[in-house]
Amino acid sequence: MRVRLAGAGLGRLYLARYPFLRAASSLVAELGLDLSELSSPTLAPVLKRALGRVVEGVRRGKVSPGLEDEYVELLSFPVAIALVASTRNEFLRRRYALAEAKRAEELLALEPLEKLLAIARDFGWWARPVGFLENGIFYEFSLALRDYLRNAAGLKDKKWRLVNRLVRSGRVLATRAEVARLLAEEVRRRVEELVLKAMRELREVPGPLKPYVEKVLALLSELKLGEGPSLEAAGEVEFEAFPPCMKAIYAALSERRHVPHAGRFAFTAFLLNIGMSVDEIVELFRRVADFSEKITRYQVEHIAGERGGRTRYTPPSCKTMRSYGLCVGADELCQRVGHPLTYYRRRLWRLRKARRAGQAEREEREAGEASEGGEVPGEPQGGRAGGGEDS
Ligand code: SF4
Repeated sequence: MRVRLAGAGLGRLYLARYPFLRAASSLVAELGLDLSELSSPTLAPVLKRALGRVVEGVRRGKVSPGLEDEYVELLSFPVAIALVASTRNEFLRRRYALAEAKRAEELLALEPLEKLLAIARDFGWWARPVGFLENGIFYEFSLALRDYLRNAAGLKDKKWRLVNRLVRSGRVLATRAEVARLLAEEVRRRVEELVLKAMRELREVPGPLKPYVEKVLALLSELKLGEGPSLEAAGEVEFEAFPPCMKAIYAALSERRHVPHAGRFAFTAFLLNIGMSVDEIVELFRRVADFSEKITRYQVEHIAGERGGRTRYTPPSCKTMRSYGLCVGADELCQRVGHPLTYYRRRLWRLRKARRAGQAEREEREAGEASEGGEVPGEPQGGRAGGGEDS
């Protein structure tokens, strides 16, 4: 196998670094990798590295470059995809894709211009080399608007907004590091798609993968990743009273969709201000694909005023939420408030009032029914309530 891989003329190192490229898949197909033969001793290093890729993705949220053996690196990728697909775990699918994207970004940032252009072509980009110096920043690439927007849309930093970009002749200029970051988004989506395709195609878990599937599921469960508690079940907090914007952010987080930094900040500050503790919020964020307990805890503590400048933050006003694109359309109460917290307090007050009224009505009805029937409400027929001891 080594000989054929080296002789394929596609550059072993190149394909081992970027095993998600179409040329790499063709080569793997040509090599005839058969998942049912994974228990063969020859493929033991491939299986070990495949498990390593997935475990690193689960534990650290990032796969290491691992380029000691190019052959192992290349073949371990489709095996890892099959392993993730075999777990049928949606959270893992997203987390693993993100972890592979981080690995790719690290490697892409070191590539020469021609190689980045070749990889961009693999994703269907229309990218061109340029040399443009502005404010001390050297732009080496010009990108088609659609390629830029497709990948920058989900990125958090303001610098990715189109209004903050240099656009020349309808094309967006980008540095090498920026192209690596944008390509990482393509990688993430492609890996997610590859796992999804494998999920559809795999009728049963390939025999040699079975023990590893159990290992990975046990690890997810041990780390409680993707299993955070739901807000709907939270005791103190009344999810029903949440304003539409916060419900939308929570829905996106629960479905592991991307939520920009401003949205996470607003949601965290909102939860803290309606009475949730730092620990409860950290647990809640476990449901999110890129969850890291250390980073999440640090950020939540910072917003709670337990770190840094000791300022306890409140969520942004409706006006600011609108400017961030986080206001998802107002209902009748939204028309009368200027802040999501005011919305929550008013809706909560209305809900509790309605519940109290409902309760009073029920009690009154029961009392009426009981007196019509000659019974004392709450007291069992023929004796004292509870039948306890006399004091
Ligand atoms: S109007 Fe305010 S409370 Fe209502 S959805 Fe928009 S930001 Fe949220």
